[in-house]
Amino acid sequence: MKVAKIFNCQRCGFCCQGETTVSLDEDDQRRMVHCLGLSVEEVRDRYWRVTGTCVQMKTVNGHCIFYNEGCLVHSGRPWRCGQWPLHPSILQDVMNFHTIAESCPGINTTLGYEEFCTILREVMADEKKVCC
Ligand code: SF4
Ligand code: SF4
Repeated sequence: MKVAKIFNCQRCGFCCQGETTVSLDEDDQRRMVHCLGLSVEEVRDRYWRVTGTCVQMKTVNGHCIFYNEGCLVHSGRPWRCGQWPLHPSILQDVMNFHTIAESCPGINTTLGYEEFCTILREVMADEKKVCC
C-alpha cells in the first residue's frame, strides 16, 4: 500500500479532540444517519450540534462524541475525517506539511518533503481512479 509509506495511524485520537469538530455536509449527514440506523431526528438530537446551517458533531469531555479509543462511527464518519491527515494543502506549502505533521504522529517525517509529496500525489491519483 503506497499510503503506508507516508502515513500510519497511531490511534492517538488527537484529531478527534477539541471543543468543536469538522462540519458535516449533506452527504456526510446521510451517510452517518444510514450507518447509525436511526432517524435523522434521533441522530440530530443525540449526536449533532446544529448552528444555523452548520452541522457538527457534539463534543463530550473535550472530544468528539463518537471517539472512544477509536471512531465509533468509522464507516459513517464525515469525509473530512477520512481525508485527515493527507490534506491536499500539504502539496502547496512545506509549512502546511510541518503543521500537520506536528499534530499527527502518523505522518512519516523520515521522508523528505519532495518524496512525501510525490507519494501523496500517487495516493490521491489512485483514490480518484477508485472513486470515478
Ligand atoms: S492524529 Fe493522526 S495518528 Fe493520531 S489518530 Fe489522528 S490520524 Fe491517527
Ligand atoms: S467522527 Fe470519528 S474520526 Fe471524526 S472526529 Fe469523530 S471520532 Fe474522530
